[in-house]
Amino acid sequence: MSLAAPPSSVDVAVIGAGAAGVAAARRLTGTGLSVVVLEARDRIGGRAHTIVREDHALDLGCGWLHSADENPLAKLAGAAGFTIDRTPPPWESQVFDHEMSAAEQAEFGAAFAAFEGRVAEAAARGEEGPASILFDPDCRWNPRIDAISGALNGARFAEVSIRDYDAYRDTEVNWRIVEGYGRLVERLGTGAPVVLDCPVSRVDRTGPVLRLDTARGRVEARAVILTLPTDLIAAEAVRFDPPLPDLMEAAAHLPLGLASKLHMTVAGADDFPKDSQLWGRADTPDTAGYHLRPFGRPMIEAWFGGDIARQLEADGEPAFFAFASDELANLLGSNIRKRIAPVTASMWGADPWSRGAYSHALPGCAGDRVRLKAPVENRIFIAGEASSEHFYGTAHGAWLEGERAAREALAALGLDAGSTPGDDEA
Ligand SMILES: Cc1cc2nc3c(=O)[nH]c(=O)nc-3n(C[C@H](O)[C@H](O)[C@H](O)COP(=O)(O)OP(=O)(O)OC[C@H]3O[C@@H](n4cnc5c(N)ncnc54)[C@H](O)[C@@H]3O)c2cc1C
Repeated sequence: MSLAAPPSSVDVAVIGAGAAGVAAARRLTGTGLSVVVLEARDRIGGRAHTIVREDHALDLGCGWLHSADENPLAKLAGAAGFTIDRTPPPWESQVFDHEMSAAEQAEFGAAFAAFEGRVAEAAARGEEGPASILFDPDCRWNPRIDAISGALNGARFAEVSIRDYDAYRDTEVNWRIVEGYGRLVERLGTGAPVVLDCPVSRVDRTGPVLRLDTARGRVEARAVILTLPTDLIAAEAVRFDPPLPDLMEAAAHLPLGLASKLHMTVAGADDFPKDSQLWGRADTPDTAGYHLRPFGRPMIEAWFGGDIARQLEADGEPAFFAFASDELANLLGSNIRKRIAPVTASMWGADPWSRGAYSHALPGCAGDRVRLKAPVENRIFIAGEASSEHFYGTAHGAWLEGERAAREALAALGLDAGSTPGDDEA
């Protein structure tokens, strides 16, 4: 239910219609409160975004239902008639042994598991610092471990907190949605009272009601749920008056890393096993992962994380394909250059409404996820992937946080969150 303009006064204004904002709006629906969702973009979904090219639904943001056996969005996808693909992810293998032999792949797997074991032990001892201090200095796989960090954190392990990395919860069950994860979030938001093209620039909290300045006029609200990506909160993209230095500092301690996707077509795709994986290089973090024939399609989905993603974004969208062509030619022979063609690449770092992909906690800042979501005056509530202590960086983490913030808002406005309907009770 997209609204042409926001109402002048509501009980709850939700800022942002990504996974967290949509979840919050759904949780508030049917409670008797008046609600509006104010979204800067011309679409619902935020970092969940599916486009259709070459007759295929391609996710530019989230694609995997991580921890799918516990993921509330997996249930909602099934209930909404979406097709769930349970093919196991290809990440842990290298389909051909050009770059790494099977023995080397096993050696790398053991090295990564040992690193994660050291992280868990250090976290259990209460130690904190950059996770990279737990690298084995003699291990030849450290660059590749950092390439994995690029994918997981959008940044190298030197920039990632030991305790925060250890706090991430993963059941290691990963599914996909054939019609697109972004399409699911969009569909779930369809019934919400969303105003598109409506960036919020300021929240005046000097009076008994909150006053929001938007591109489509002023909205008064008794409570606000803020779901902006952390880089935007830290940069005061929405200016609070008076300011909220604690919130801004917590957000700055949880910066967005960068992960980028490039979708390509490939001719003669049958030469490659369905849903298989190649890594470009083993000796540097500045490499990409290549998911061959995702869903069995004649396509390749390349994944760039951390520094290399930033560098290629800065060079412009065609740079992703040029880089991928070189790496794939190195692995598969120069003939591959004639068989692949670019379809689209994500540019989340340049996107003014995200400025990155997903958050990681800087060393020493594991506690900032809890700090980020501390309610302000019991009327400003914060939610998003970054406020999730265990599912940060994911769409379902954002979703659960949106529901949590909505429950807090309900309680603040005198309603019993437990006795009102919502997806969590559905
Ligand atoms: C390349 C990539 C791959 C990913 N892969 C996965 C994956 O496989 N699985 C997974 O679970 N997660 C994945 N993620 C992460 C997941 O997409 C995000 O964690 C999640 O979508 C974030 O949701 P959110 O609601 O916290 O934030 P967002 O989706 O960013 O929503 C915030 C909303 O606020 C809006 N906004 C910004 N500024 C304003 C303003 N001033 N006024 C009003 N509105 C504003 C934005 O437009 C946006 O719609 C991936 C992300 C990327 C980028």
